[in-house]
Amino acid sequence: MKVIEKIRDAAANDANRVVFSFEFFPPKTEDGVDNLFERMERMVVHNPSFCDITWGAGGSTADLTLEISNRMQNMVCVETMMHLTCTNMPVEKIDNALSTIKSKGIQNVLALRGDPPHGQDKFVKVEGGFACALDLHIRAQYGDYFGITVAGYPEGHPDVIQNGVVTEEAYENELAYLKKKVDAGGEVIITQLFYDTDIFLKFVNDCRQIGITCPIVPGIMPINNYKGFIRMTGFCKTKIPDEITAALDPIKDNEEAVKAYGIHLGTEMCKKILASGIKTLHLYTLNMEKSALAILMNLGLIEESKISRSLPWRRPTNIFRVKEDVRPIFWANRPKSYISRTIGWEQYPNGRWGDSRNASYGALTDYQFMRPRSRDKKLHEEWVVPLKNVTDIYEKFMKFCLGKLRSSPWSELDGLQPETKIINEQLGNINLKGFLTINSQPAVNGAKSDSPTVGWGGPGGYVYQKAYLEFFCSPQKLNALVEKCKSFPLLTYMAVNKDGTWFSNVNQTDVNAVTWGVFPAKEIIQPTIVDPASFIVWKDEAFETWSKGWAKLYPEGDPSAKLLEEVQRNYFLVSLVDNDYINGDMFVAFKDI
Ligand SMILES: Cc1cc2nc3c(=O)[nH]c(=O)nc-3n(C[C@H](O)[C@H](O)[C@H](O)COP(=O)(O)OP(=O)(O)OC[C@H]3O[C@@H](n4cnc5c(N)ncnc54)[C@H](O)[C@@H]3O)c2cc1C
Repeated sequence: MKVIEKIRDAAANDANRVVFSFEFFPPKTEDGVDNLFERMERMVVHNPSFCDITWGAGGSTADLTLEISNRMQNMVCVETMMHLTCTNMPVEKIDNALSTIKSKGIQNVLALRGDPPHGQDKFVKVEGGFACALDLHIRAQYGDYFGITVAGYPEGHPDVIQNGVVTEEAYENELAYLKKKVDAGGEVIITQLFYDTDIFLKFVNDCRQIGITCPIVPGIMPINNYKGFIRMTGFCKTKIPDEITAALDPIKDNEEAVKAYGIHLGTEMCKKILASGIKTLHLYTLNMEKSALAILMNLGLIEESKISRSLPWRRPTNIFRVKEDVRPIFWANRPKSYISRTIGWEQYPNGRWGDSRNASYGALTDYQFMRPRSRDKKLHEEWVVPLKNVTDIYEKFMKFCLGKLRSSPWSELDGLQPETKIINEQLGNINLKGFLTINSQPAVNGAKSDSPTVGWGGPGGYVYQKAYLEFFCSPQKLNALVEKCKSFPLLTYMAVNKDGTWFSNVNQTDVNAVTWGVFPAKEIIQPTIVDPASFIVWKDEAFETWSKGWAKLYPEGDPSAKLLEEVQRNYFLVSLVDNDYINGDMFVAFKDI
């Protein structure tokens, strides 16, 4: 979705709603990229309207920016705006970048001239390239597909600031040029950082006077450390009000105090801006989360305990799959894997799982087992211990369910989902008995849709779900459970081993909605289903995780790895639904086994 539409939709729903966004830049190392994505995951749960990623000076990060944009939009599932500059970019390269992001379902571009490459003072147009943002020919080439944002400079562009002064004529030329950028298709303006809020407010007023009517989003850079602040304001020729200099001078060597002041200052600036009637904020995060989130918390725009989800899983932002609203439950803890395995689908299920169950999933590849290095490290720390027998394995699973471990080879997420905590004691018990759970949800019978543990879909509705358990267990335990299930007719199960031996009390075509929601003036939404056809696809990934996700962390030939592979060969994967979401207690079925 275009950023302008997001801003307009927010205002149409609630004139006081504040729209905020985060800027990131491409890190220099692979570890840095891993860290950035972890941070981004933590930040996007607060529902920024969009996040953007910069294009390194002189086009130095072109490939990385393209890759990060793709992952942001399609894996992190946050609306992504990619910066694109003219520096060192012949037209073919610009076209290549634009057609690449278009093919990845990204719809937003911040069109810029760009800074000169490092070591060069002045911007020089590359041969066969463009001279300014106005030239980027996005509209001419791509019609209405892209949402275009352009840069604005409340204090004037640094090129026209001489000894801290901009002549009136230069300032007016700048404004007139900005208007040209808007007339040429710019739908939103994001401003350069500033620390004098009055200058920003005057700039907005001046823009309105010459007929610029689009949203002008203030770029706020929290002060994180003194040296960085001086370097950045020097580079951008930003005015530093006297009171800021006076506040920073005595604390400039105390990093914590500078950060705290940065949060205070950022909060006060935003308050003043919001009070003027502007309802958009753009935070230059410098790839750090604390200050940006602290400012938003101080403003009451986010709350740690109130994270709202539009669906039980993060809704996609890719333009080709924005309507998707049904998924099988099996990948609940591996959403990125699900996205990668369904990326080639021409249509995504919407409203009902329906015929989509016949769509073919992408092959299982090593990609589904790739993890950021930090995650691998955590798994090593938490899961790689000598395993003498299966009870050592049971214990690992139990500890994860009790929240004593943060990582699991079967999950891409950090720790447990909030709703799992409702049943974690019971989960711990059955894991110790050898039912090794990898997915679950408690029964919910009409909880408010803004409940912090089980809610989704925003306020005003009610959500429901059937209790669900998915686990590995030995054939003996499966037999015992199947016997027990005969006394619990509302329990439905599917069990399969690595080779495909199958037991079930449902038909191969039975699709079971296990999560649904009822909202004012809407049809029932049923975002999660249990479906035998998808379970068969999922089981390969689930079994493969024993070896590729866990055993492979041990040295080759290690006896613990051999034990894990034995479990992989012998155990069954079981999916169990308690269809009595009102009075059922599926854990009773595990008693005395
Ligand atoms: C929000 C934001 C994000 C940024 N992200 C990046 C990034 O990712 N990578 C990066 O390298 N840089 C980035 N920059 C910096 C930016 O590239 C530089 O400031 C650059 O020098 C100007 O880019 P621009 O798109 O604003 O330039 P333009 O809008 O093209 O203008 C540049 C200057 O030339 C003048 N000018 C150009 N053509 C005309 C004309 N026809 N008539 C009158 N005046 C004209 C303008 O008035 C202005 O002074 C960003 C800046 C901002 C504010």
